[in-house]
Formats: sequence, C-alpha cells, structure tokens
Amino acid sequence: MFETSTIEIDRKKYASNLKFLRKTVASKSELCLVIKGNGYGHGARQIMEVAQDLGESTFAVFNAAEALDVLSVLNKDSRLIIMGEIDFPQLEWAMENNVEFFVHNLTLLQKVLETAPKSPFKAKVHLEVETGMNRLGIDPRDFHFLANLLNEFQHKIEVMGVCTHLAGAESITNFVRVKKQLKEFDRAVQGLRNLGIESQQIHAACSAGAIRLKKTRYDMVRIGILQYGFWPSQETFIEYIMDRQNKVSPLQRIITWKSRVMSLKAVPMGQYVGYGTSFLAEADKVLATVPVGYADGFSRSLSNQGRVLVRGKLAPVAGIVNMNAISVDITDIPGVEIGDEVVLIGTQEDQAISVSSFSDYSSQLNYELLTRLPKDIPRIIV
Ligand SMILES: *Cc1c(COP(=O)(O)O)cnc(C)c1O
Repeated sequence: MFETSTIEIDRKKYASNLKFLRKTVASKSELCLVIKGNGYGHGARQIMEVAQDLGESTFAVFNAAEALDVLSVLNKDSRLIIMGEIDFPQLEWAMENNVEFFVHNLTLLQKVLETAPKSPFKAKVHLEVETGMNRLGIDPRDFHFLANLLNEFQHKIEVMGVCTHLAGAESITNFVRVKKQLKEFDRAVQGLRNLGIESQQIHAACSAGAIRLKKTRYDMVRIGILQYGFWPSQETFIEYIMDRQNKVSPLQRIITWKSRVMSLKAVPMGQYVGYGTSFLAEADKVLATVPVGYADGFSRSLSNQGRVLVRGKLAPVAGIVNMNAISVDITDIPGVEIGDEVVLIGTQEDQAISVSSFSDYSSQLNYELLTRLPKDIPRIIV
C-alpha cells in the first residue's frame, strides 16, 4: 500500500442511481451500463462487480483491450459489448468468450467473415448504421451488399442488435440533427428488415438521449455518465429538474478521491511559494503539501485555481501544480496536522468538491476529468 491517494466508490449511492435509471430511462428497455474509459475513471472492474452484485448484467466498453480487462469479473450470464475498436487478432477471442461487438463498417465485416468459419462459435454482432454522426456506421447504400453477406453466413453470425450513436444529444443546439438521425435510424432499421435482417434489439440512446427523448430508448439504452451521478451537460440537468417540484438531482456522485497532508510549512509574508513567482504570500501563510500532482490526474490548469478539502474546509491550491505534489493554503483552517485527510473530489463533513466545479476551475468536462484519473490509483468500494 504505497499509494499517495485513493478513490472510494460509494455502493449505496451507486445502487440508488441504478434504481433511478431503472425507474426512468430503463423501465421498458434493457439497461446497458457503459464502463469504457476505466468506468469513467471509477474503475471498470470494480463498477462491474458492484453492478452485478446489484443485479445488473449488461455492460459495454469501447475496445477489445477494455473488454479483456473486465472479462475475468464478468458473470457467466452477463453480457459484454464492444462498441468500437476490434480487429483480427481479437475477433476470434471475442467469439470464443461470448463477447458481442459493433460492426461499424464493411471492412470489419469482411474480417468477421474470414474469422468466423474457423471458429466453433458464432460472432455476436450489433450492426451500427450511419445516421448522421459521420464517425462510425454502415452506410445505408451498402445494406444490399451487407444483407447478402449476412444471409450467406447466417449460421456463423448472430445479429444481436441494430444500432446507432447520437451526435451531441446533450445540447439543444443539436436537436434538429438528432431528430433527423432518429428518422434516418428508423428508416435504416426498416430497410434492413425488408432485406431479411432481423435483430434482437434496436438501440440508439446514450445518457443524454435516454433522459431527454423517450423515443431514443428503443429496446436498450447505453448509459455511461448518469450511472456515476453526473449529467451529460448542465443543460440536460436543468431541463430535467425544470418542471419538477424537487429541484435536487435524483442522482448522486459516487466517487471520492482522497489523499493526506504530507507536510506543513509556515511561509512569512513576502515570500514566493513553489516554482516561479505565481504565488506570493501577501501575509504570513501556513501551507500544507499534498502528494498528488498532474502525474496523478490533478490537472496543472488547477494551479492557483483548484481547491481541496481539509478538516471540512476549502483550501485553495497555492502556486503551480507540480508533477507529484501541490501546496494548499490552510492559513485559515486551524489545527491541521500531518496525516490529515485531504479530499480532492467528493465530500468532507458538509463541504463538497464536485467534479464539475473542479472542472469549471480547470475547464475540463466531467467526462475528460474523470477518465484522466490514473488507473493505478486504488479503487475501493465502501
Ligand atoms: C460512450 C458511449 C455511450 C455512453 O455515453 P454517455 O453519454 O456517457 O451515456 C453510449 N454509446 C456509445 C456508442 C458510446 O461510445
């Protein structure tokens, strides 16, 4: 246990978030929990374990490496879906291990067709169709060709889903585009059906789509950020609570990132702190050093901007964030001692540092900030 900080995941709060999702966006659709980016920084394996414990059984990651990472904790009757990158060497592995994957272009399909006959297992695919995001997805003009191939290899390929991804459902400015996508999607699903391709599930929604537009929910919703207690955007949250009596978020953050005070320093008025001259003690100051820096995911852009919690009070970052340490100003917090708990994200007593306020200071999105938390920080379920 040599780590300088730890990440705690609150099981009770996570359970409450899942309950909310089941009740709202997944009351009639299957709930697929997206745990890419190391579970949005929360720890993919840990999140999967808790989720399964709480009765969930469908998960999605972005690439084969992420799938491999969590496969050993996946229950026998759970599903795992790769939504993005998979290539030759991993295709056989995926089939063997019952891992489903998106087929988002014809080249990938050709590779599946080359691999599948050699395997005693079926390839379980989700056909991702292009509807206007223009990133990944099969062009409807190729559906004829696609259908011919699929019909020929019926015995080797199981079409688990037909799906698409919405481009920016978290912002009303994209509303017209998203509406158009849904129209295209319905047309594509029908088009494939007409060509004899029946899939088990139709799916399109990410968090923002699912919470804003009922229509996007289809048979399955792919929920990432909401399960962790964050909203896809401020706008999504405002829209959700606007017409409701209760103006409090129904979701709770489940992450706490904490470290300890490693050293204390009295700095006389007129001295500079740390590298360079960005922090001048304008009075006699007491600073605490915390062994977490930009190498640990505490962004350098929080220099002289960020705050942490010590003894239930906010302590501003003083000076530049170093590679492995920060100094925080605790002049007005009495009684701080070496070894005291420091909260970088989360709550301490009745104060909170939310990731979004953290990212306001550092102008990073929740998504980006969370996934940047290094993998080697231990994740502990509490
Ligand atoms: C990341 C991702 C999601 C989940 O997005 P959230 O906004 O976090 O809910 C859903 N579908 C695909 C294809 C994704 O890549």
